[in-house]
Amino acid sequence: MDSFSGFPFATPIADAIKEAGYTTPTPIQAQAIPEIVKGRDVIGIAQTGTGKTAAYVLPILQHLINHPKVPVRGSPRVLILVPTRELAQQVTESFHTYGKHLHFTYLALFGGVPQGPQTHALSKAVEVIVATPGRLMDLMRQRFVQVQSVELLVLDEADRMLDMGFADDIRLLASDLPDKRQTLLFSATMSTRIAALAHNFLTSPVKVTVSAENSTIGKIAQSVMFVDKEDKALLLKRVLDTDNVKRAIVFVPMKHVADRLVMKLAAEKVPAEALHSDKTQAMRTQIMNDFRAGKTRVLIATDIAARGIDVDDITHVINYDLPKDPETYVHRIGRTARAGAAGTAISFCSGEERSLLLAIEKLITKKLTVREHKYHSTFAQNGGVMSHAKPLNAAGQKATGRGGGKTNSNHLARKNKNWKQK
Ligand code: AMP
Repeated sequence: MDSFSGFPFATPIADAIKEAGYTTPTPIQAQAIPEIVKGRDVIGIAQTGTGKTAAYVLPILQHLINHPKVPVRGSPRVLILVPTRELAQQVTESFHTYGKHLHFTYLALFGGVPQGPQTHALSKAVEVIVATPGRLMDLMRQRFVQVQSVELLVLDEADRMLDMGFADDIRLLASDLPDKRQTLLFSATMSTRIAALAHNFLTSPVKVTVSAENSTIGKIAQSVMFVDKEDKALLLKRVLDTDNVKRAIVFVPMKHVADRLVMKLAAEKVPAEALHSDKTQAMRTQIMNDFRAGKTRVLIATDIAARGIDVDDITHVINYDLPKDPETYVHRIGRTARAGAAGTAISFCSGEERSLLLAIEKLITKKLTVREHKYHSTFAQNGGVMSHAKPLNAAGQKATGRGGGKTNSNHLARKNKNWKQK
């Protein structure tokens, strides 16, 4: 399908697609939309950035048009489960974008904010609810939401929901859902846990997969920079200064690392903002608005906070640490090169993280390009193993690294280097 006109979309949807500026369906849309329109259950293996949201939102809107019903208070016809509040907001936004010429009601339900406005919204009739499992379960327990008349269930970023421990909530929820329904499951990766989830929730599903080459992931220039742990902040500043970074997300493992880096960079006149779960919802919204508007160039985020961020024109994703779970790497780098744009993903790898790098390379079935730089560490490149070729000095330190050439890899000697020393 090389044009949207091949799909049986009603004029209000076709017009919204045109107004969004889309001319060609993305591969996941081309494959999934015809099956969803037929009423089939679908497993979509696609990362964020592939156009997967429109792949289900568009046919869902068409379903609502094809099967008109009087909407009921607190009783949605379509339920979308997502892992985070940011994704809940973005998917709801997509419904507003593609459904702007229609008169359906779309509602986002997520935790971390008072439930008052949400219960107020639920006192009116609603067709589509986009929810995080925790808040939805809370509201169901209080009987603000009933799911017995759900016709369409979507599990979006299902792998992420499992990672975040929502499996029990999803199972509990499923016991209230009608058996006769259409279910769509989207996940960045296919694992045995996802297969088990699909087995329990979907009936004779069609599986559509967007291969890495087909998706934007294939368009991302992925490289690794070997660096000792204590040099990572210096390297980050250097990359931000020299790499033509227009808009970057830097992923860090923990909230305090994000806060510390923001302070270090500020001292070096490199403004950045931290995004993590200690920030209030209002702060997070403000930070995201500034990032989206280009007021903030560098966002330093934990995985959970950054989940579902849909900001165009992110030129760089920088992995300050390598994620423990290689699938998280795919999610992280999916923030750049969205909708066909070019993007750069740079991963900082220390000696301790060498095995994580191997796991990532195995998952994506390719080797990351090694980028040499001022702080290059052959110690890290060698997998945190001292080179046999070089003798240790009296202090047990490696004199120079194997194949180090112009770069200095004296790992231990630089342990106490502080930020100001350059
Ligand atoms: P998603 O994978 O759903 O997060 O979408 C990634 C980005 O692709 C979003 O910014 C969409 O607006 C954009 N997008 C979705 N479908 C298309 C399309 N057919 N053509 C161009 N851009 C699209």
